[in-house]
Amino acid sequence: MPVTTAAYATDALPDETVDAVVIGGGAAGLNGALMLARSRRSVVVIDSGAPRNAPADGVHGLLGLEGTPPAELLERGREEVRRYGGLVVAGEVTSAVPAAPSAGGDPRFTVTLTDGRALTARRLLVATGLRDVLPDVPGLAEHWGHGVVHCPYCHGWEVRDEPIGVLAVGPASAHHALLFRQLTDDLVYFTRGTELDEDTRARFAARGVRVVDAPVEEVVKAEDGGIAGVRLADGQVVARRVLAVATTLQARAEGLEGLGLPMEDLPGGMGRRFVSGTAGVTEVPGVWVAGNATDLTAQVGASAAAGALAGAHVNADLVTADTDAALAAARRGAGRGGVRSPSAPPLPEVAR
Ligand SMILES: Cc1cc2nc3c(=O)[nH]c(=O)nc-3n(C[C@H](O)[C@H](O)[C@H](O)COP(=O)(O)OP(=O)(O)OC[C@H]3O[C@@H](n4cnc5c(N)ncnc54)[C@H](O)[C@@H]3O)c2cc1C
Repeated sequence: MPVTTAAYATDALPDETVDAVVIGGGAAGLNGALMLARSRRSVVVIDSGAPRNAPADGVHGLLGLEGTPPAELLERGREEVRRYGGLVVAGEVTSAVPAAPSAGGDPRFTVTLTDGRALTARRLLVATGLRDVLPDVPGLAEHWGHGVVHCPYCHGWEVRDEPIGVLAVGPASAHHALLFRQLTDDLVYFTRGTELDEDTRARFAARGVRVVDAPVEEVVKAEDGGIAGVRLADGQVVARRVLAVATTLQARAEGLEGLGLPMEDLPGGMGRRFVSGTAGVTEVPGVWVAGNATDLTAQVGASAAAGALAGAHVNADLVTADTDAALAAARRGAGRGGVRSPSAPPLPEVAR
């Protein structure tokens, strides 16, 4: 259910090899690019314009930017990256593969877009986000991000005091329900065939959460376009205005298979992510990953922070590579193994 934001102005793709290509221009990718551009790195963000929170009216829980519409936040981010010379290209990466390294062994990658255009980068930052996969309940998907919500911190306040239904997807849904119970007194838990032990039923009863074990047939639409309720297999409609449901979180990996980045499934059917270490480093030299693509629960602030950290580490890696290359060149030029570059300028003298 990808929702795209409005089209935005695109920069031209450069012909020359760039220091870094950032795949994905959401909070993580743009913050990574901002750090790189401010470090005087040539950086190109390639973004297909479908951030995960596109259906939402505002970004919540983000200090200083509370309630900013997602598209506005990203437009500001693109402007900030461009202010320091970074490029933002509207397009989708359909292939990213390692290319022949430089003569000195510095990595190179070829990144190809849907329309066949390609560019070469020394480093990659993968910030493609994730895809939310909803359970297959007729009528559910069309309300995603409005009447159907997943995150009590993103839109919980906005649906407070509403009649909320939790569509269970597994044992973890019980905890999800208690988080929404914090926001409304009117909560119904639809077990949908998932197990609910006696202890949890007692805890729900103590908090006034009603449990429906009958199978769910479909989500019923109201005349105003919102949700009217949940139809059960016996035809009864349980009136609800909001449905909370945990999605399966799938890192967006299409087109990136050629990089050979390790992925892993998280426990409890939570989803699948790119494996990464400190600051988003991966097992593939020259490739970092940040944001929801590797941290499935990161919100906008955490995704931006991860992107910034990864961008800083990419720059640090390039600084080392540039210095190694300069030293090798200096040694070749000097021919005697001295460490001082023949081209190093003399130290400036203080005027007396
Ligand atoms: C309905 C909803 C509401 C939410 N509300 C909030 C909220 O209020 N507050 C909050 O903090 N968080 C909220 N979130 C979570 C938030 O969406 C994520 O934390 C955030 O989007 C993660 O940022 P990201 O940069 O990792 O990924 P994304 O924002 O998803 O950005 C990834 C970008 O990469 C692009 N891309 C993917 N693949 C390719 C490719 N092959 N080539 C080129 N580009 C590609 C996509 O088009 C997208 O623009 C919400 C999520 C949802 C689903």
